[in-house]
Amino acid sequence: MHGGLAHGPRAGDDTAMTGFTSHMEAALAEARAAAARGEVPVGAVIVSPEGRIVARAGNRTRELCDPTAHAEILAIRAACAAAGSERLPGHALYVTLEPCPMCAAAISFARIARLYYGAADPKSGGVAQGARVFAQPQCHHAPEVYDGIGAAEAERLLTAFFADRR
Ligand SMILES: [Zn+2]
Repeated sequence: MHGGLAHGPRAGDDTAMTGFTSHMEAALAEARAAAARGEVPVGAVIVSPEGRIVARAGNRTRELCDPTAHAEILAIRAACAAAGSERLPGHALYVTLEPCPMCAAAISFARIARLYYGAADPKSGGVAQGARVFAQPQCHHAPEVYDGIGAAEAERLLTAFFADRR
């Protein structure tokens, strides 16, 4: 275990089960919308402690000419603006791909309670590999991490997107 990294959903919690699959479905919809805009298909949603989606976003790095416009960053900005706070305690973030180190740091700064992600990202991931941001002593808040949710569909979207570009 590194920095609170857990594998898979908690067993025996049917309410959570329904919640996280439908929330990841919403994140996958954002990923598909990103692909339709010509952006790398990654999508994210943020869910309040009450279980309501308070922000949703897909990658917009090309559209905004902004290398920081990853789905997670845009969703965190929108959720914080809506909450009128720089922190989102008790919130969950669902993202279709393992966050990069930049997004993992932003998730930590935002005090997100739980991170659910789909596909692993051996190339740029910073949670379970690479920088392993949450496992570093300089990381002051690590969310609970659940990986592999909706991974097959997230990977299919990414593979199709990059196959089309070749
Ligand atoms: Zn990122």
